Amino acid sequence: MRWETIHKDTAQRVAPRLTDYEQTCSGFTWAQARAALDGLPDGRGLNIAHEAVDRHAGPRDADRTALRCVARDNTVSTVTYGELARRTARFANALRALGVGRGDRVFTLLGRCPELYTAVLGTLKNTSVLCPLFSAFGPEPVEQRLRLGDARLLVTTAALYRRKVADSRARLPTLAHVLIVGEGAEELPGTVSLDELMSAAADTFTIPPTSPEDMALLHFTSGTTGTPKGAVHVHDAVVAHQATAAFALDLHRDDVYWCTADPGWVTGMSYGIIAPLVHGLTVVVDEGDFDARRWYRILGEQRVSVWYTAPTALRMLMRSTPAEGPYDLPRSHDLSALRFIASVGEPLNPEAVVWGQRVLGLPVHDNWWQTETGSIMIANYAACDIRPGSMGRPLPGVEAAVLCRGPDGRALVTDGRVTVAQTPGTVGELALRPGWPSMFRGYLHDEKRYEAAFADGWYLTGDLAERDADGWYWFVGRADDVIKSSGHLVGPFEVESALMEHAAVAEAGVIGKPDPVAGNIVKAFVSLTPGTEPTPELERRLLAFARQRLGPAVAPREIAFDQNLPKTRSGKVMRRLLRARELGLPSGDLSTLEGPA
Ligand code: ATP
Ligand code: MG
Repeated sequence: MRWETIHKDTAQRVAPRLTDYEQTCSGFTWAQARAALDGLPDGRGLNIAHEAVDRHAGPRDADRTALRCVARDNTVSTVTYGELARRTARFANALRALGVGRGDRVFTLLGRCPELYTAVLGTLKNTSVLCPLFSAFGPEPVEQRLRLGDARLLVTTAALYRRKVADSRARLPTLAHVLIVGEGAEELPGTVSLDELMSAAADTFTIPPTSPEDMALLHFTSGTTGTPKGAVHVHDAVVAHQATAAFALDLHRDDVYWCTADPGWVTGMSYGIIAPLVHGLTVVVDEGDFDARRWYRILGEQRVSVWYTAPTALRMLMRSTPAEGPYDLPRSHDLSALRFIASVGEPLNPEAVVWGQRVLGLPVHDNWWQTETGSIMIANYAACDIRPGSMGRPLPGVEAAVLCRGPDGRALVTDGRVTVAQTPGTVGELALRPGWPSMFRGYLHDEKRYEAAFADGWYLTGDLAERDADGWYWFVGRADDVIKSSGHLVGPFEVESALMEHAAVAEAGVIGKPDPVAGNIVKAFVSLTPGTEPTPELERRLLAFARQRLGPAVAPREIAFDQNLPKTRSGKVMRRLLRARELGLPSGDLSTLEGPA
């Protein structure tokens, strides 16, 4: 194998506290993880906001820093656990005063800012349901989701309201209240200033009894394969947030932790807000946008110890900091506090794992999960060695399997039964045994689709994977994206990864293009590194490079250059759109497409 396994002891800057995979998994139960949380006083149930905030706001811990916010101009402000408890209590009281209660949907349309944390956790305290929207969405996707989610209240800024909500407000009869963060509510009819409501509200709040099965969060999926689905999560999910963050991110109370995911997506919620606060640590909140210089400075100046990011962000850093050095940018910052790096969202090419090791001094731990699973399921994690290019191994409490595949790539279901592939290396649909606490409880208003995601006691993920003889899982592609070419099944990830090993290639998206002889041929769309010219000669060189790496059956037959590969706003290449454009088909739902269509 070209990419060598990275031993767990060298993958972190301190000796791993979890040292052995089998030992970590053996005897673990979710009941045990649940018992490690507080629960509401007097047995009144389990509430995410209590675990994330109130239990750290007692006299011993109230002065510890919960949030360290880095504004766009780099000024830093902090919020303690005690202050966060008071602010979220005020927010919950404000909701109550407006008549917004249990199960009512509260939406946020905000960038990363302290008020977002207040709104999310205050909503959960009030046993209302929080649904985050990505602040860069256009007016249509915002309206679509507010309607689908039966929004009762929205928290946003005056500028975002004016641009993205004002025009559709009359078409959203359930939306009773809009709260404006910062200035500007006076000029906007039908809105109220959040500040005013908060200052009129009391800063103590008793969380009402909360059943672990009460709906807590509504998350729309990324829309990579089609129309986004609204995944429903309950308060019990916090059990999985806590446990998986310990296993897969190695979070501890003394950490300074930075998650770069936007809070509009499930990662930014589960691991940007909930899990780290449940662990009682300090969360870095970056209010700015991606910029390599800024990011290295935050890692250094804030003394970040655990960093959770995504393949697109890593690839952008790689472009600005090539592995062949001289690494001026990272070397000009003191990254000595950094001890653990993890990534999620898309397949992480092995090169990026190793780039981390060379340039940042630590390899990147890839992990896999979905909006539906609510928490990390499979990971290269503290207790196991890293296999670059692999998603890792199932976390304790997670039972995964590869199912035998039918002709459409997805699991073969016969009379309601599926077959688990026994031979290592078999490609099939990745499935999970339901029962972990953060498992989604439904797609909102789409019972049929929810039911279709299960067969024979398994949850079918829609992703194809293989398991090696030692138990590491390898992502092959989404079932919808897999290419059937001359009798072979080609996973786009393998082809994209091989292309990205070429110095000229920044990113790639691979699709199947119908062909009368082969059924499909593999076609790659490639964006080039800065300063590289798209010439026919380069195309020939890339085709030869890929053929040499992958062999003729898998290598692309065609390569097109495209500096603007279509991506979802959560950073995933939209292969379905590349395909639709190539074949002249309708584009489908583009609500999560980044930039101009
Ligand atoms: P939609 O379901 O609307 O098409 P989506 O699947 O992209 O969108 P998310 O729930 O945000 O929505 O993403 C989960 C998917 O992202 C996974 O099913 C998988 O395809 C991909 N993914 C996440 N992490 C990884 C990883 N580490 N390696 C490979 N793929 C990953
Ligand atoms: Mg999905």
